Amino acid sequence: MRRVLVIGGGASGLMAAIQAARSGAKVTLLEQNRQVGKKILVTGNGRCNLTNRDQELSHYRGSDSGFAAAVLQQFGLEETLEFFGDLGILVKDRNGYLYPYSDQASSVAEVLRMEAERLGVKMALGNRILKLSAAGKGFEASTDGWTYEGDACVLAAGSAAAPATGSDGSGYVLAESLGHRVVKPLPALVQLRCRERFFERLAGLRMEASVKILAGDPAPAGGKKNAERKELAEDRGEVQFTKNGISGIPVFQVSRYAVRALDEGRRVEARLNLLPRFEKRELEKYFASRRKDGGYKKGEQFLTGLFPGKMSLCLLERAGISKNKKAEDWTAGELERLLLQIRDFQTEIVSGGSFEQAQVCSGGVDTREICPETMESRLVPGLFFAGEVVDIDGACGGYNLQWAWSSGYTAGRSAAKGGKE
Ligand SMILES: Cc1cc2nc3c(=O)[nH]c(=O)nc-3n(C[C@H](O)[C@H](O)[C@H](O)COP(=O)(O)OP(=O)(O)OC[C@H]3O[C@@H](n4cnc5c(N)ncnc54)[C@H](O)[C@@H]3O)c2cc1C
Repeated sequence: MRRVLVIGGGASGLMAAIQAARSGAKVTLLEQNRQVGKKILVTGNGRCNLTNRDQELSHYRGSDSGFAAAVLQQFGLEETLEFFGDLGILVKDRNGYLYPYSDQASSVAEVLRMEAERLGVKMALGNRILKLSAAGKGFEASTDGWTYEGDACVLAAGSAAAPATGSDGSGYVLAESLGHRVVKPLPALVQLRCRERFFERLAGLRMEASVKILAGDPAPAGGKKNAERKELAEDRGEVQFTKNGISGIPVFQVSRYAVRALDEGRRVEARLNLLPRFEKRELEKYFASRRKDGGYKKGEQFLTGLFPGKMSLCLLERAGISKNKKAEDWTAGELERLLLQIRDFQTEIVSGGSFEQAQVCSGGVDTREICPETMESRLVPGLFFAGEVVDIDGACGGYNLQWAWSSGYTAGRSAAKGGKE
């Protein structure tokens, strides 16, 4: 019987262990926590957004985002729903975002654990793997007191995001120790910090807005940074203002691009449209008619109903309009500047949140060194990868767990069968 070691008992490791066992392997799951599936418990605010009906490939990112396609083809949305359905998880659909009917992430972790147990997967909990070596035709995974042996190994140790759940980046180190290249891991699905001080006054506001990320070219050695910026990403939804920047789902969605561009030494800015439902002409007309009827109002009063007061004051200040000036007295230039602030609110991004604050990481084991049909290493036969340790990150909306299920399925089955199906 083929012996498969799975390092990491998170979403992808549990899936890999189940699939390897179902394919006839003798599986040992090595997990440093005292429980499996710890991160699953915190997903989707404790409700676990386990996948999404919209499976457009653009929701999967990485140095070669096309890599995900081959994996998702083997085990995609339908297969995922069938798999969980068989384990007793009915799904609840919220605009295409799928959750367990119980609305409890623990049910997802629990059914995976129960299935792994039923299949006889040996769960070696409290085992932190410090060293992984390819020994002869197999593998040795060592803790500080014990060495586990297997004919194949699935590395599913996660990323460096949310390390309190156990994913502390050690998966990257183990991959590197076997000769794999790791694309620098960086926080993703995370808030962004901005340079301007006025955010202190906006903290706590939530507004519908679109967010664009733009970045300049990297500075040439010793030279000046190019002022021209290219658009990297855009999203729309409820933006949250924090005391030092911006957060919320649309910001999470574009954050990986901002953080990677900053890491490349590029100057990054966000541009927010604070009234994205209006076309420019529509907004001009609306302001013109409002000024006829309500022009006697001072700036903040005039903007009441469109923006929270703190935002109105900030917009007026940035447009260079005195807050005591009546709307009917604004010059054409002042009105134009105000509309520009509303439609193109610019802020410089100075950093992203930390790994502790991030939901996932971009970067990871270089996909050029992995075969997408099997998730097997192209460098070390018998070594397989699954989940976030790989250089694929999903958008917010169930895509990271879908990646964990799909890559875990492929890696687990292939590991049991010795690579080629
Ligand atoms: C707050 C939060 C909310 C999220 N919400 C969602 C959501 O709703 N939908 C969604 O799709 N995604 C969500 N995600 C992302 C998703 O949870 C992860 O992408 C996914 O769980 C990754 O699975 P994984 O198996 O690759 O890694 P993990 O789940 O991190 O599992 C890796 C496991 O390996 C273990 N490990 C690491 N190193 C070692 C070692 N050396 N030895 C032994 N064990 C080791 C760790 O303890 C851990 O248990 C969320 C993430 C966070 C942090």
